[in-house]
Amino acid sequence: MIDHRRLGRELDLFVSDPLAGAGLPIWLPAGAAARHAVEEYVRELERRSGHQHVYSPPLGKRELFELSGHLGYFADDMFPPMKLSADDEVVLRPALCPHHALVFRARGRSYRELPLRIAELGGMYRSERSGVLGGLSRVRAISLNDAHTFCAPDQVGDEVVEILRLIRAAHAALGVRPAGFRLSLRGPAGRYVGDDAQWAHAEDLLRGVLAGVEYVEAPGEAAFYGPKIDIQIVDAAGRESTISTIQLDFDKPERFDLSYTDSDGSRRRPVMVHRSLVGSMERLFAYLIEVHEGAFPAWYAPVQLVLLPVGDEQAGAAAELARRALDAGLRVEVDAAGSLGGRVRDAARRRIPYLGVLGSREVADGRLALRLRGGRALDPMPVADVFALISGQVAARALDLLPAG
Ligand SMILES: [Zn+2]
Repeated sequence: MIDHRRLGRELDLFVSDPLAGAGLPIWLPAGAAARHAVEEYVRELERRSGHQHVYSPPLGKRELFELSGHLGYFADDMFPPMKLSADDEVVLRPALCPHHALVFRARGRSYRELPLRIAELGGMYRSERSGVLGGLSRVRAISLNDAHTFCAPDQVGDEVVEILRLIRAAHAALGVRPAGFRLSLRGPAGRYVGDDAQWAHAEDLLRGVLAGVEYVEAPGEAAFYGPKIDIQIVDAAGRESTISTIQLDFDKPERFDLSYTDSDGSRRRPVMVHRSLVGSMERLFAYLIEVHEGAFPAWYAPVQLVLLPVGDEQAGAAAELARRALDAGLRVEVDAAGSLGGRVRDAARRRIPYLGVLGSREVADGRLALRLRGGRALDPMPVADVFALISGQVAARALDLLPAG
């Protein structure tokens, strides 16, 4: 069976060392290179849709998480506070929202600034029981792709539509195949903040946004602070989890006393929309490793091109080509040790998208014989054309190794 833990080991993507601790994996260079490419993509997608990025620390004073409600509602999932002195305790945060509320509150806000979209790929911690931890899919240190939009009540609908567009774009680029959409609503038994009319309005609004999308309603699955849309994935073992989420929140703006000045000069309460396009980097990669069986699209493959000099005489030319490929922005390696057949097999084992074979004729002609992952061999091409081909697929964030058509 496909298992991201086994593939993660075979492809040197990450390691879980008992000395580092359960649920605290370390990303190795290959895994880190893939993650870096994905993070850059997501940051750029967010930047183009008007998000502003911030950095905030993964721990904060106990009082911050008392105010946010996390210590009241969520303490069982948090690590115990660290006592620094009799009246000073800090906690590892279980979510980024409290810090982002402080970003909104850092100065007075006007209606002209709304919707204000604050984004961060930030660290947070969950005290998961050791029995449920495994590989990257359940961890205790989480790197979340997160953002909070602060908007006027009448902007919420458009904002949710835009977030869904971004989620679809990210899924298409990464090769994520959603298993279903879920609308989580109030249940009869739960404890919820906000009044009935507010909830009914928000639930209707999300139903409206989902018109034309196949989804299931999940009564009782809403957060205590508002309804949400979750987008589910299923892993190779058949376990379902949430990869993308959009949550409306009536509660934190109250708790943090957030307000903006409206066009008539009055003070108004913004609505807070929590959203994650692709979830945590850990769970995302647990899924991507399995869904692609380790053969990532070229744009986030750890190494995109391996150059194979046929003999020692081509070693210098291969090194020179590697320098040019690096300058062209590609992740490239030269593999010169051992038989050519053995090196081709090793590149296949590592799921390298492109192999460039360099014999004496190719060196003399300034060409490269390209082989694609999967075994297909192309006729030798001018080196500049090879770089343009690979760079084109990378820039287009294509799932295939050759342009369509
Ligand atoms: Zn949040």
